[in-house]
Amino acid sequence: MSFDQDPNEQAQISGADFAAMCDEFKALRKQYDNLVSEYDCLETEKETLEDEFTDQQSELRKLRNFLSMEGYRRCDIPACNCGLYHGGNAMRRLTEVREALHEAGLSTNGKTILSTLREHLKLEPLP
Ligand SMILES: [Zn+2]
Repeated sequence: MSFDQDPNEQAQISGADFAAMCDEFKALRKQYDNLVSEYDCLETEKETLEDEFTDQQSELRKLRNFLSMEGYRRCDIPACNCGLYHGGNAMRRLTEVREALHEAGLSTNGKTILSTLREHLKLEPLP
């Protein structure tokens, strides 16, 4: 017995066939409910992953901004083609300036390089 018959045809179904069809229907219904439940779980997981992706994109943007502010530039040199960041010598340059100030007898202890220089150049301190 199956559902593949012509619906206009009068069906002669035995009680045993009807019981088997009911069991088959119940099994299919259970399978359907499981699939719906599985789909809901996957949907929730997808939303979580999308949220994480958005957070990571935001973090990546912040990190790239930081690199950019520190003087690093994404490599666009065709001969290099490393896809990394080049440059970013700001700290090294500041260290060079600080060392030059110390060699000239100007201490930056407890002061910024800028305030040390402003003091030495007899400029008004910044507010
Ligand atoms: Zn490169």
